Amino acid sequence: MAARNAKKRAKFAAPEPASEPQGIAVDEWVPNYGRRCEVCGETPCVTGVRNGAVVYDGSLCGVCTWGDTALADPGRW
Ligand SMILES: [Zn+2]
Repeated sequence: MAARNAKKRAKFAAPEPASEPQGIAVDEWVPNYGRRCEVCGETPCVTGVRNGAVVYDGSLCGVCTWGDTALADPGRW
């Protein structure tokens, strides 16, 4: 009895650090006031949190991350 099961190799795609935060699933965006934007020097930088862990540690402020000046205010992220 050599019936082999065709094993399904479900490749688990690990989440890759994307340069675009829009592509990352996060619970919320939180401001990181301890870091200055690489581009404009403003604070806070954008940090993405999921399940209580930082999944996106951005080096850009809200404006430079999303390209929208309205997003300088973390309250609108
Ligand atoms: Zn910036």
